[in-house]
Amino acid sequence: MENKKEMRKWLDDMNLGHPLVVAGPCSAETEEQVLKIAHELKDTDVSYYRAGIWKPRTRPGNFEGVGAIGLKWLQKVKEETGLKTATEVANRAHVDLALEHDIDLLWIGARSTVSPFIVQEIADALEGTDKIVLVKNPVNPDLSLWLGAVERLHSANIEKLGVIHRGFSTYEKTKYRNIPEWQLAIELQTRFPDLPIINDPSHITGKRDMVFDVSQTALDLNFDGLMIETHYDPDNAWSDAAQQVTPKTLVQIMKDLRIRKETDEEAEYMNNLTNLRAQIDVLDNQLIDLLGKRMKVSDGIGKLKKQKNVAVLQSNRWNAILGNMILEGEQRGLSEEFVLKMFKAIHQESINHQEKIINA
Ligand code: PEP
Ligand code: MN
Repeated sequence: MENKKEMRKWLDDMNLGHPLVVAGPCSAETEEQVLKIAHELKDTDVSYYRAGIWKPRTRPGNFEGVGAIGLKWLQKVKEETGLKTATEVANRAHVDLALEHDIDLLWIGARSTVSPFIVQEIADALEGTDKIVLVKNPVNPDLSLWLGAVERLHSANIEKLGVIHRGFSTYEKTKYRNIPEWQLAIELQTRFPDLPIINDPSHITGKRDMVFDVSQTALDLNFDGLMIETHYDPDNAWSDAAQQVTPKTLVQIMKDLRIRKETDEEAEYMNNLTNLRAQIDVLDNQLIDLLGKRMKVSDGIGKLKKQKNVAVLQSNRWNAILGNMILEGEQRGLSEEFVLKMFKAIHQESINHQEKIINA
């Protein structure tokens, strides 16, 4: 898939002057709910009104969406508010129904992007239409799988394309519902600068209090827009209650976000600087996280040594690590002096930890 400016023409043509905002409830619940939220979002920066009609739930027995009837409610939204509409499709039948009801933007969910069969089925069903299609990242952090899905749509002559970054599943418990792995999105942007990328802070955080910060990071990283789940009564939403914000909060978030404009040279410089700093912040957080993990493993070694009554300092092992790291560092442009200093500090912290364990 070569870089194609046409891919982002749909977005550029909107001439928004601010990031694209897609907002609305996680799920369409009732006609009244869908219309009430839409009316509250009517005179805001929101361009597309989202509502899940078919909900891919992790376990059976949860609310699985209202189905096709909800598409009629979305049509009413368009008639009454002028907002364009958006929903998730996961098979050919969904696509056919969404087209029948004139939904403007379709997205492929994270659980569908992992399946080339599903993506191909959706691409085939959409061939010959001129809908906007956004591909959410797959649940696992696999850039090729994500891009593969975009390629399938592109090969089906769908030109109005984009991706949605909604974070990745982990076994490990973290402060996020789905960890952002920002470097993956950064790599995607570097490889395909013309592919619009929208951030979904709702599914990344899983918590409404964190939505603002993740949105700001996304904008600092030059994302083109945001998809934010919005409900007039978030706590009583039928799905994803903890992460939805009220329309009022959404408007406040949009007001408080620092939005950079790429107008003159100075703005361009500030834009580049903010973008690079945001990348550094992401990497620094990863560094601290990794060092914390390393220390936990080191604690485990301390416990083993305590059981066997073995000395904390094992010089042979330490010299081998240092030798290796100096070589690895060299290949990455890091001086021997720096690598030595850094690993001495890490080693010292490890020894302190292990001493504490052994003497406990
Ligand atoms: C959604 O947008 O409501 C949704 C189900 O998202 P995801 O595919 O990112 O889990
Ligand atoms: Mn949701």
